[in-house]
Amino acid sequence: MAIRLFNTYSRAVEEFQPLDPPRVKMYTCGPTVYSHAHIGNFRAYLFEDLLQRHLESRGFEVERVMNITDVDDKTIRGSRETGEALSEFTAPFKRAFFDDLDTLRIKRADAFPEATDPRQISAMIEMIKTLIERGLAYQAEDKSVYFRIKSFPDYGKLAHFNLDELQSTGRVKSDEYEKENVGDFAVWKAWDAEDGEVAWDSPWGRGRPGWHIECSAMATQLLGEQLDIHCGGVDNIFPHHEAEIAQTEGCTGKKFVRYWLHCAHLLVDGQKMSKSAGNFYTLRDVLARGYSGREVRYALLRVHYRVPLNFTWEGMDEARQALGRIDDWLARLREHAGQTDDAGAASENQFSAALDDDLNISGALGVLFETIRETNRAIDQQTLSSTDAARWLRWWEQIERVLAVTDTGDSAIPAQIAALVEQRAQARLAKDFAKSDELRDQIASLGWEVRDTKDGQKVTRRAGA
Ligand code: AMP
Ligand code: ZN
Repeated sequence: MAIRLFNTYSRAVEEFQPLDPPRVKMYTCGPTVYSHAHIGNFRAYLFEDLLQRHLESRGFEVERVMNITDVDDKTIRGSRETGEALSEFTAPFKRAFFDDLDTLRIKRADAFPEATDPRQISAMIEMIKTLIERGLAYQAEDKSVYFRIKSFPDYGKLAHFNLDELQSTGRVKSDEYEKENVGDFAVWKAWDAEDGEVAWDSPWGRGRPGWHIECSAMATQLLGEQLDIHCGGVDNIFPHHEAEIAQTEGCTGKKFVRYWLHCAHLLVDGQKMSKSAGNFYTLRDVLARGYSGREVRYALLRVHYRVPLNFTWEGMDEARQALGRIDDWLARLREHAGQTDDAGAASENQFSAALDDDLNISGALGVLFETIRETNRAIDQQTLSSTDAARWLRWWEQIERVLAVTDTGDSAIPAQIAALVEQRAQARLAKDFAKSDELRDQIASLGWEVRDTKDGQKVTRRAGA
């Protein structure tokens, strides 16, 4: 059965046909490494992981790139505040991001290009040169280079904005006086004192790339001029992805992306979870409450990606219960299957069929839990043969390749340990090191080890405990 996906560009569900099947070129906007990613960001990365895994389960060969934005206003501001060089400031957040991906079982992309990589900076400069040659960009009085949106007639098509409306606001005063049009966006930002040491040479003087050109350059540099899929959260649609289309198509003259996919936001009390609103949880915050990576994974995946999802602790408990049901079911099936491995051919999986329909995860999970109910009943009634049990286990293996939620023993830090770790953090803040050592011993006696690292306390199960 064909896979169908909702394309933001056409606002319609379309049959998925990559340019060069079975290859699929997929670009996903990655984190800005000025702090720990919050679980809203991870909702986006988990939806992309689900998409990749499902496409792979259907025989596609996905080549995925996720960029790391390690230079922009926020990273520069952060490094200025801590007095570190930009790369020193961003390094721990990059490391933490990769740790978090692993905790959430998100498959690693094939490449994680960094915006500050000299090869990428050169690619950005080359693109900007082409845009200027073609009359699509210009250097303004402030020495920055801007994209001229009125020279790209399709500008606004992704976000379904009317360019005339955007333009009708006309020139604005204050800091934007230099631009020809209020909607023109910077592709190269001229150095100013706030940037400190952060600057690269370019034909337009010292400066740094704009955020949008970073993604256009990194995507085309690593995946070529035409992509099959480009993803992000809905907040990326405008201006970021709109600008990416204008810049890339402005340079190549070819259609940049066949399918644009965007996930709805993770909310807290009905508001978008975001750093600026201060209503966010990092993955570490949730783990410290005693939840495991797979529980967070399940909680963030279980709602369709285009439906806003409200984050609550009850939702986390529901995720725990659901996984508990899966764990119990698998244990029963294994017991029942015994040594039987003659499971026969795997039948068509209705779980996968549901995902074919624009990643209909609730339909897919409905199939799973209905199967769990029925097979459990058959086990109770002693009507499930060991061959059937083995067959269901094989069925589950297909699902697990996509869901990736089985218990692999990397279970959560128990609430009791998390509470002691928190007390220890308080003791250390108060410089009460005797108390801190006492708590470390207490944690050790319960089978856990705590280490102090640059990123705070790291808690692991003690070997052999
Ligand atoms: P940023 O680091 O802000 O560039 O965001 C990285 C990714 O996370 C982007 O794809 C955003 O669209 C996405 N994102 C940010 N906040 C949320 C949220 N509350 N829910 C879902 N996705 C989000
Ligand atoms: Zn991007």
